[in-house]
Amino acid sequence: MKGSPFRTFFVQPGASAPDATGEEKPAEETHEETLKRIRAFNLKPREIRDHLDRFVIQQAEAKKVLSVAICDHYNHVRQCIEQPELRERDYAKQNILLLGPTGVGKTYLMRCIARLIGVPFVKADATKFSETGYVGGDVEDLVRDLVKASDGDVELAQYGIVYIDEIDKIASASGNVAGGGGRDVSGRGVQINLLKLMEETDVNLQSQTDLAAQMQAMMEMQRTGKARKRTINTRHILFIVSGAFDKLAEQVRRRVQSGSIGFGAAGAAASASAEARVENDSDFLRLAQSRDIIDYGMEPEFVGRLPVRVACQSLTAKDLEQILLTSEGSILQQYRADFAGYGIDFDITPPAVREVAAQAHKENTGARGLMTVLERVFRNFKFELPSTAVKAFRIDERTVAEPAAVLQELLKENAKQQHEVLRADVAAFTQRFQAEHGFELAFDEGALDALIEESLALDKTIRALCEEKFRNFHHGLKLLVNEGESRKFDITREVVENPDKAISRWVVERFKSTGAA
Ligand code: ADP
Repeated sequence: MKGSPFRTFFVQPGASAPDATGEEKPAEETHEETLKRIRAFNLKPREIRDHLDRFVIQQAEAKKVLSVAICDHYNHVRQCIEQPELRERDYAKQNILLLGPTGVGKTYLMRCIARLIGVPFVKADATKFSETGYVGGDVEDLVRDLVKASDGDVELAQYGIVYIDEIDKIASASGNVAGGGGRDVSGRGVQINLLKLMEETDVNLQSQTDLAAQMQAMMEMQRTGKARKRTINTRHILFIVSGAFDKLAEQVRRRVQSGSIGFGAAGAAASASAEARVENDSDFLRLAQSRDIIDYGMEPEFVGRLPVRVACQSLTAKDLEQILLTSEGSILQQYRADFAGYGIDFDITPPAVREVAAQAHKENTGARGLMTVLERVFRNFKFELPSTAVKAFRIDERTVAEPAAVLQELLKENAKQQHEVLRADVAAFTQRFQAEHGFELAFDEGALDALIEESLALDKTIRALCEEKFRNFHHGLKLLVNEGESRKFDITREVVENPDKAISRWVVERFKSTGAA
């Protein structure tokens, strides 16, 4: 799959997923090999769950439900390929409704699954679509995006996974619960359009609103004399829709807590178990029924096409800590890889991990809070350390509390080594200067000190400083040497402080000496 966007689409930090047969997937796999693996799909629900456990913390119920749904779906795909007559038989596709607050792993679960199976995955927010597709996007674009994610391979795209987030935002306003928050007619229209896709339909590979694609098709037709009508069938595309459904959660909570009207004995039992782990209102979503979702403003037919429903739980501070410590795809691994790019390693102490998790939890954005906190902690380290001699550092509780102060101390401790780094930067500049202009600049100790002092005082890299100071230097030097003469110049502190003045002085001296000769 040479330079395919498909491969980069699934990149997860630190993740190397086993393939559908449980073996590590080769780094480069052709589409044909990927298709072969899909056609030979033989994973068991437990194997998928175990794979998800490596990356996703908590969400045990969602992992189970999704593993079963995914196995059913891809087993059905395999059977249809093996026995085409099965296609005619009724089959309810396992499209999935994922409920739950933001940042708790809903998308991440599906991305991990898509990566494991090797199918393309696309995600979009429901709010970006409009009923007509002329303002905003057309829902069919989702399917066309799958083709793009498969590097134009339609066959691979038709086994892909489409993830639509913020579906609750297109609840129609007539819904009892969503109240005026929904988008009414247009939202309803988008739901109806999605319905067709989720069921089975042929989608034209060229968007009616994509003028460039239309022109290209016209030109191709003029050239070849044939209209190439290419479509993709959505029968085997799996659709996942998700949303936070905040107000619905509130409504279910009220119902459950006020003696479970409408839930009966089962509701009361569920309420007891729900209380076992209730971080916030959203955890009541697991008790929502079809009726609730329809009342919220989702079309009954739409809800009907989403037979698999599961709620993801909110994450506790302890869960966030666990993500940092054990998730193979955690954001911390990403920072590790970023710093490793500069040959820098870091250690993080257990209390520091706990503190990051505690701060992230306060953000109330699930695991996304970890990104916010870590970005704040690492920001200046990332900026400063690559230009220093520091090759390893430690993050403790104090670093999390006051990263700027700790960084300053670290830089101070390394000031001596830093001088060596800056000297090496000057050497690199002289090499470039010689390669470019053929002159050797021999900086003496005084000149090196002057450059380093100025670089630190102005907070400028040696590279930028030298390039600025000696931008026109070679023009002056050319006036000073004749054929066969030495092209080496001694650079002193005085030259560094005013290179133009030095050149003028050298030229005058030279003129005098040749005049005298
Ligand atoms: P959402 O539930 O809004 O779809 P995401 O799945 O996009 O949230 O989560 C954002 C990021 O947070 C993920 O890419 C992942 O790095 C991290 N993350 C979220 N939930 C979990 C979890 N349960 N376990 C491990 N990482 C998680």
